[in-house]
Amino acid sequence: MNSIQIKDKSFDIFINESKILARIKEMAMQITSEMKDKNPLFIAVLNGSFMFTSDLMKELNFLCELQFIKVSSYAGTQSTGKVQEVFGLNQPIAGRNVVILEDIIDSGLTLQFLGQELQKQNPASIQICSLLLKPDALKVNLDVHFVGFEVSNEFLVGYGLDYDGLGRNLKHIYQLA
Ligand code: 5GP
Ligand code: MG
Repeated sequence: MNSIQIKDKSFDIFINESKILARIKEMAMQITSEMKDKNPLFIAVLNGSFMFTSDLMKELNFLCELQFIKVSSYAGTQSTGKVQEVFGLNQPIAGRNVVILEDIIDSGLTLQFLGQELQKQNPASIQICSLLLKPDALKVNLDVHFVGFEVSNEFLVGYGLDYDGLGRNLKHIYQLA
């Protein structure tokens, strides 16, 4: 399947499954060498990161914990504008070495907000691990410690990423044609 159609849009294959999995193995080696003695707590951001998280965790052969969270945004009152909230973080992270797992970083605003929220609990460290990063789209200064692929600003779908709720189940990553 080199091209797919979702609703009104066509997408071409961009990063195939074997390339994704090979890169994840390399990321896992880097994470292992840096984190294996630190009892890390991985915090994965739903929904998009579910597939990346699953494949990455299978490559980690040391003791670690995993928690799934959601960062929701909703339109607040006109005075407050966009309000974000973190859901599902039901364990203390004080003193922990936290690694945030994300599918893709675009403006960086979501992870900047999440980082600030987590920081309030005084973890020992917070590092960001994202499968995909759009460096040219970043609007804030964000230190992404573990990166799978740097990509251009094109819209991507598949491997957890959706277009209008669809396409998360695709095993390859596709780019808007
Ligand atoms: P940010 O706050 O960094 O701008 O947004 C990150 C979120 O935007 C990602 O977790 C993802 O949900 C969404 N996003 C950014 N770029 C893409 C893309 O190319 N495709 C899809 N499907 N979602 C994207
Ligand atoms: Mg995401």
